Amino acid sequence: MDENLIKNHKCDEYLEERLRRKKNDSIGIVMQCTICGKQKGGEKSSKNRNLREIKPFDEQIIIDIEKANKDRTDSFRKETFYFKLYEKIKKDNNYTIESMYSLLKSMLSIVINDKVNNIEESEFCRLNNEPKLIKWLIEFLKNDFYIAQELKGKYILTKQNVKVDLMLYPKKHLIENGFANEYFAIEVKYLEPNHDMFRKGSEMFWQTMTYKDSIFKIKEKEIIPKFTLVFTNLSFKNQREKLECRVDVDMPSMWRAYTHLASHAGVGILQILEPKVDFITKEVSQIGWQIFFATREYFTKDREGNYKLNNQHVAKKKNAGNIS
Ligand SMILES: [Zn+2]
Repeated sequence: MDENLIKNHKCDEYLEERLRRKKNDSIGIVMQCTICGKQKGGEKSSKNRNLREIKPFDEQIIIDIEKANKDRTDSFRKETFYFKLYEKIKKDNNYTIESMYSLLKSMLSIVINDKVNNIEESEFCRLNNEPKLIKWLIEFLKNDFYIAQELKGKYILTKQNVKVDLMLYPKKHLIENGFANEYFAIEVKYLEPNHDMFRKGSEMFWQTMTYKDSIFKIKEKEIIPKFTLVFTNLSFKNQREKLECRVDVDMPSMWRAYTHLASHAGVGILQILEPKVDFITKEVSQIGWQIFFATREYFTKDREGNYKLNNQHVAKKKNAGNIS
């Protein structure tokens, strides 16, 4: 089949009636593009039609096109530098695929160690336990929020007692810039990037989700936080880089999966915008902060001290059941 025709054709000009077997094993009339093999539109009425005059749906067209695409990418890959290098190492050492796999796995862990050791330590790396992180955060956020520490509450579902690290309420200037004028909570954790991140990470997110569904008492008022956030050493870019290069145990995917799942429960991430040094004047910028729900940004204070509401809807907890 002509590759250019497949790429540039308009299906509408090549439609023909075909008989296609459906999931329930009954047969219906559909329109198939004879070039790319795709079905266009739904089933047509077969009333007063002689089904014997209609050809069966041609499943082979799509299979052939996919095979041609695969052959093309395979032959393209075989032309690349990495493929040639791989083949050369394999051939020169008389390695099997199994030994190549072990070799590359070991090399990957060596190169990751190298990379981790090469990531510059910032001053924030000294915040290496929860008390230090909490102390730093309170000092950092006190101009923007009223902050209560170690607030007791009850998980609504089980009436179990809970205690959240920080409960915050925005100051006037934040509300004027669009920040929700409601309480929200922050759970603070130190996560050792090379140790037990899967378990500790999942426990932290679950704990923070339950706070979103808890009642806390503040100034004789009972409140449910509008959302809850996690603040960890990974809230600093420099520490995150160390996690993100651990592709050997797929830390990046794990962290992404946790944050997406948590966002459906109204749990977001507080990230810190570390100061930037001006290349010429050597002037050091302020430190900013950002609130994310998965990859979507809710609110930012940038390094110039400007406040910006990005998307007010992302901070809302989704309904129960189907969320799509
Ligand atoms: Zn087509």
